Amino acid sequence: MATYSIAIVGAGPAGYFAAQALQSAQTDDLRFSIDMIEKLPTPWGLVRSGVAPDHPKIKTVSKVFEKIATTEGFNLFCNVELGKDVSVAELREMYDAVVIATGSSEGRKLGIPGENLANSLSAADFVPWYNAHPDYTNVSVDLNTEVAVVIGAGNVAMDVARMLALNPTELDPTDTALYALKGLHSSKIRTVHICGRRGPEHAAFTAPELRDLVKLEHTDVYIDHHEIQAAMKRVEEQGEVPREVRSNLDAMLAISENEKKHHERSMRFHFLSTPIEIKGKERVEEVVFGINKIEGDKVIATGETYSIKCGLVISGIGYESLPIEGIPFQKGKVRNTDGHVEGTNIYVVGWAKRGPSGVIGTNKSDSSDVMKILTTNLSNPKKVPQLKSLLDSRGITHLNQGHWHLLNAAEVAEGEPQGKPRVKFTDKAKLLGFAGK
Ligand code: NAP
Repeated sequence: MATYSIAIVGAGPAGYFAAQALQSAQTDDLRFSIDMIEKLPTPWGLVRSGVAPDHPKIKTVSKVFEKIATTEGFNLFCNVELGKDVSVAELREMYDAVVIATGSSEGRKLGIPGENLANSLSAADFVPWYNAHPDYTNVSVDLNTEVAVVIGAGNVAMDVARMLALNPTELDPTDTALYALKGLHSSKIRTVHICGRRGPEHAAFTAPELRDLVKLEHTDVYIDHHEIQAAMKRVEEQGEVPREVRSNLDAMLAISENEKKHHERSMRFHFLSTPIEIKGKERVEEVVFGINKIEGDKVIATGETYSIKCGLVISGIGYESLPIEGIPFQKGKVRNTDGHVEGTNIYVVGWAKRGPSGVIGTNKSDSSDVMKILTTNLSNPKKVPQLKSLLDSRGITHLNQGHWHLLNAAEVAEGEPQGKPRVKFTDKAKLLGFAGK
């Protein structure tokens, strides 16, 4: 029987699904010993620090992660940073294969004047702020303004817009960071504009997320009925309408027709609007948009502009991966062929492999495909890696699955009396305290 040692770096969905694929591929003759390495003191990646707190159902996938993590042959090493606490070269030497599942954490830049004004920020900072990510607790966001503009027509932009536009009482029974919840309760924001640069038919939103918007109890959501009808006409004229496009347009039409309750809070969709400048003396005061039109299958600038006065701008326009020494990067992701970094024992899954696209479930088949290639390439298992003793010799405090169980239970216990699923701890010293040191 051959036992291969695999290091998976990154304890998010893509990493767990890679581990699951390896576990499922085990036979009487083939076993895997999996060490999962995570930079944060806690696992679950974007399921903990990305998924919007008002969408708890999406987080139930964490049950699957815990099943994988408690399967024989799986070891968790949290609070271990690749490139700082252990190098890529060391992992490559110790393990039969190294799987990079580190995602994409840097927000893409708009690259327009005024982007760096105070209160213009990226969803890559705002989302982990409201999700209690320990590295983002000090993000400076001022909600003392009536109007916010969110740039982007994807699900991240929509999460951000919804978090700003809903009545914070709806967040009380969630695991939103306590400091963020306090900030949102005193927020003066009442109008949130969400702006896409192309047409409704090109939006990257997904239909279930759009359909959820009509369920908001304290917020009116506005989409121009005629704009959606025009988009529907355009796509129908071009032939068969792709299923996702039709579902999206149907969901947008339903929003546009939904009875408005004259709530003081509103969320307003705008399309064909390219941000060209953020204006303000010291802080954000206004966003100027170039107006586009659609001709055939092209989106072109009309040369006309309009602007929205606002005190907060958040861009949700995609992510890039941060480079890691010892791994080739290209265009914001790891350079790879079908998930293999050629000529090495390095593999890559998730957003670090394919860029920031797809929902959590996308990673299941994607990671599985890469693990098939990894398994095929294996030969002659190496010695059992001694990661724990290496980390201990370097004085690095690391949390294993047992520590995480204690931490997890403590967060859940703290949330229970407050009617919340958990209260996420953010203080690094407190988090590391669960390592029993
Ligand atoms: P995304 O889906 O790729 O959307 C990015 C949006 O930003 C697009 O509308 C894009 O427009 C726009 N954009 C890019 N550059 C721009 C620029 N310079 N100026 C103006 N707009 C620009 O990315 P995302 O929203 O970050 O989401 C990442 C992935 O996570 C997606 O697959 C998403 O579905 C997933 N996600 C899922 C959920 C959920 O299931 N609930 C929640 C959050 C995220 P163009 O199309 O014109 O480029």
